[in-house]
Amino acid sequence: MMKVRRYLRGSGRVLAFVFIASVIWLLFDMAALRLSINDVNSQLLKEQVIREREIFKQQSRVTQLMKRGFKHPVQRVDLAVTHAGKGPLSSDNKLAQVYRQGGKKQDQMLGDKKINSLHHQGDNLLKTDPPKYVVSEHKEGAAIQEVTPKQGVPAKKKAVNLDQNLTKSETSRVIDGSNKVMLPVVVSNITQVPPGVQKDKHALLPTSKKGPIETGDVQIALDKTDSKRNKKVMTGAKVSQLDNNSTAVRKPGVHKVLSLDMTQAPRDANAVGQFGQAALVASNEDAEVRKRWDEGHFNVYLSDQIPVDRAIPDTRPEMCAQNVVHDDLPSTSVIFCFVDEVWSTLLRSVHSVLNRSPPHLLKEIILVDDFSTKDNLKEQLDAYMSQFPKVRIIRLKERQGLIRARLAGAAVAKGEVLTFLDSHVECNVGWLEPLLERIYLDRKKVPCPVIEVVSDKDMSYMLVDNFQRGIFKWPLVFGWSALPDEYIKKNNMTVSDPIRCPVMAGGLFSIDKKYFYELGSYDPGLDVWGGENMEISFKIWMCGGEIEIIPCSRVGHIFRGQNPYKFPKDRQKTVERNLVRVAEVWLDEYKDLFYGHGYHHLLDINIGNLTEQIELRKRLKCKSFKWYLENVYPDMDAPLVKAEGLVFNRGLRKCLSLQKGFLLFEICDLSKQSQHFNYTWMRHVRQQDLCVAPQGKGNGFALQLCDNTKPELRWFHKSSNSALAEHLIAEFVSHHMCLEAGPQGDTLRLNPCESRNTFQKWQFTHYHAQ
Ligand code: UDP
Ligand code: MN
Repeated sequence: MMKVRRYLRGSGRVLAFVFIASVIWLLFDMAALRLSINDVNSQLLKEQVIREREIFKQQSRVTQLMKRGFKHPVQRVDLAVTHAGKGPLSSDNKLAQVYRQGGKKQDQMLGDKKINSLHHQGDNLLKTDPPKYVVSEHKEGAAIQEVTPKQGVPAKKKAVNLDQNLTKSETSRVIDGSNKVMLPVVVSNITQVPPGVQKDKHALLPTSKKGPIETGDVQIALDKTDSKRNKKVMTGAKVSQLDNNSTAVRKPGVHKVLSLDMTQAPRDANAVGQFGQAALVASNEDAEVRKRWDEGHFNVYLSDQIPVDRAIPDTRPEMCAQNVVHDDLPSTSVIFCFVDEVWSTLLRSVHSVLNRSPPHLLKEIILVDDFSTKDNLKEQLDAYMSQFPKVRIIRLKERQGLIRARLAGAAVAKGEVLTFLDSHVECNVGWLEPLLERIYLDRKKVPCPVIEVVSDKDMSYMLVDNFQRGIFKWPLVFGWSALPDEYIKKNNMTVSDPIRCPVMAGGLFSIDKKYFYELGSYDPGLDVWGGENMEISFKIWMCGGEIEIIPCSRVGHIFRGQNPYKFPKDRQKTVERNLVRVAEVWLDEYKDLFYGHGYHHLLDINIGNLTEQIELRKRLKCKSFKWYLENVYPDMDAPLVKAEGLVFNRGLRKCLSLQKGFLLFEICDLSKQSQHFNYTWMRHVRQQDLCVAPQGKGNGFALQLCDNTKPELRWFHKSSNSALAEHLIAEFVSHHMCLEAGPQGDTLRLNPCESRNTFQKWQFTHYHAQ
């Protein structure tokens, strides 16, 4: 003690004072800076966000699996469960591709060879003609697996919450996730507990109060972080000098994406389906699984056993956690519409948003009950949700359908951005900020998360292939397709870059609220389900916006084989009517391709009034569908006619010619316009406004003004692959009557079709489609 006093005498005292003062100053300065980098995060830490690190460090196994060559577009995160006799990918793979088709059988969705060859994988190919809606090939029996009971899971249950960005040395630094292993969990044996769930788990946790996280804390965090945002923006430049762990270029007012994963209560590592693993059902439970399947058209029995706030593997590309986003992103209202949704999946959807969204960006969650009939979705749901101040429930007084239900949610939303989600999803870590960032950069961008697959059978979380985008095929059938390799190379794209998306899948996207209304929202004339994703996609692109898939934002979705709810009217007719509304408003001359792919019968159905929609398109000065095809979806094959040019008769070796209202034969001459005809999607043989038509019940023919709604003007014609290839078969006449040239070239009439009769064979100069 004396020694110390001696030191503190005279100049020594001054020196000691200066030294202590500078240490204190330095500490304060560092603390202030840390706060400014991390204010949101450190607040959240204070609010007991318990974290776990290195859960998914199984890189070597993942690499091995990648080498085995997973098929597009779905990869299993968890390979533990094999689907008996089918291989692990089979049914879910298909389901992912038929998302938004609600059970249309895949090979009935898209048609002809040309379309097939465009698709980069043979087994993606879908046929359409005629486009019937059929019940999916999903067999309940196949969905139910025989499994051995869990083994090897530690008996002691452990509570874990996850923030996969956290590393050992960074338990207090939430935003720096430089050591993060971003590849998905791959578990070769279901009994294996992922490495993140190990005994000394809690040793890594930040010092924090014990006990579960209360939702109230999240609310507090919101207020505190809001008030600090400005400060952070101001000190942003200073931050960049200190944060040498980060490879990202620091700009004022940005922070590293928050990889939050909060829970209300500590998680149980041994819970069924925890970490997105396949949950198993013992064989003696099969009957129960089957019994409850129809409640949601997925494994409801299993879903009910899985925690509503389970952890799922962080499947983002590695660089995503390093990305920076702006501090002052707009807030969002998350809108879930549901009709008779399964209790556990609805709750899991809501919890995934509450747990994994930065509180200050989540304005509210709006649940729109589209006149559900299930009892537990009434008072019981009100009571459950009352613990979350951010959740609001709106009840519709009659069934409105998905489209009008979304509009009802949007109408009361208070956030600057609307985020629509299906009611059976699981939002992944870091899902929200990358979406909002795109809108922040450009309010006309409409970002969609990557939609991953939550298996309808074992509820496992599966990641999908990179570079997938939503597209359509004729007749307006949604599908997924990989970006062409040349495009990826040309644009130097990495796996985390936003992907231009011609058509959104529909269920999951964010949009600036004002912009949504500027665009005229959805066509409120669309009923129940179907076609609304086409409508909003065409509208966005053609009227000045952009749709993007954001690989750093990922949300799991249960793809169901069938809609589990009832359609007030016939399902097929409802969807068809919606599609016709879309085609009539947005497709211009290309609507012929829509009708021409098996939808001729929709030409004269009642689709209601379109005046407002057509006016809207004019008012917004939207571009043409041709522009859309050329600029947004250039790899789409969309010939305006099926065939064109001269119409050559094989037997006569002459060409058809139309002169002064009469048809006759001439020596073929490409330079003569009178010899040019189109074979259209309406199946007309047409020159300008005149159509070649069978006449009456006899074997004559006539020239008539073309009229799309008149089936008697249509000819069935194929250039190959048909017993009557090259014939012109009158569609309206029974008993297969074909157009035949007289051997002298002076007559033209209908005769019974004969496959070898060359006078019944006609060739157009160019065929664009079969
Ligand atoms: N939905 C609704 N009313 C309807 C039909 C659907 O509120 O009349 C909801 C449904 O509960 C779900 C969302 O809209 O949350 C999308 O429907 P679904 O999941 O059946 O569409 P899919 O994923 O098959 O495209
Ligand atoms: Mn859905």
